[in-house]
Amino acid sequence: MRLQDKVAVITGAASGIGLEIARTFAREGAKIVIADLNQAGADAAAASLDPTGKRALGVAMDVTDEAQVDAGMARAAAAFGRIDILVSNAGIQTVAPVEQFEFAKWKQLLSIHLDGAFLTTRAALHTMYKQGSGSIIYMGSVHSKEASALKAPYVTAKHGLIGLAKVVAKEGAAHGVRANVICPGFVRTPLVEKQIPEQAKELGISEEDVVKKVMLKETVDGEFTTVEDVAQAALFFASFESNALTGQSLVVSHGWFMQ
Ligand code: NAD
Repeated sequence: MRLQDKVAVITGAASGIGLEIARTFAREGAKIVIADLNQAGADAAAASLDPTGKRALGVAMDVTDEAQVDAGMARAAAAFGRIDILVSNAGIQTVAPVEQFEFAKWKQLLSIHLDGAFLTTRAALHTMYKQGSGSIIYMGSVHSKEASALKAPYVTAKHGLIGLAKVVAKEGAAHGVRANVICPGFVRTPLVEKQIPEQAKELGISEEDVVKKVMLKETVDGEFTTVEDVAQAALFFASFESNALTGQSLVVSHGWFMQ
């Protein structure tokens, strides 16, 4: 077991990538805090990991709300005594051309991805600095490195996470805290399923062409990245045994983007 009795808080873990990371970390012996928008969704995901509730806890948390984040992180630390790993993963996608992008939607996306990452990081660091250890993992994207049309706030936010991770890596080093970013290619979660018809409409092409000619065009093999692929990258960052691996970003995208 690579995470025996480590405590991991994962935001946006009621669904998709976050849920698979929670499953993978639980299999490796970690105690899991599922933080997601509503209590029912968080509880259901936690119960699917451990129906006894001894090793998995659901916490209602809107990551853009300072009071909810502080209360949720405090609840996590109180329940399991420490926080070893934070996976800042909650996210949404909204597509539109820059020239037509609604300001409210721009701000909502930046807030979930960037305010959410900042607020959960700040709260986790309070506990991690006291412990003298911790690993923070941000869910970036190939869009942390690369751009696509129609995704201005998403590309902006995902690039920004790399900057935040580098600062946290520098400040956290003296306290034994590492920070890294995972940059997945397209993964067929609800977040992507929603975009396929939206992009087809915006671009005036079929949904099949959105998948083949937009989403997977630049991959080496025309394949989607899977939730399991991303969870393995998260496990690698979370279980790395020294503080050498920090301030880095790892692209997991079937070669869509190569560094
Ligand atoms: P998803 O829609 O399946 O899951 C996102 C989760 O975030 C949901 O459970 C949702 O309730 C939660 N969430 C949304 N807003 C929130 C908020 N304000 N506070 C707390 N929780 C909130 O999506 P996913 O594909 O699993 O995405 C997870 C992360 O992975 C996102 O950051 C996304 O940008 C990133 N990502 C996804 C892909 C992909 O292709 N699916 C690729 C690269 C990166």
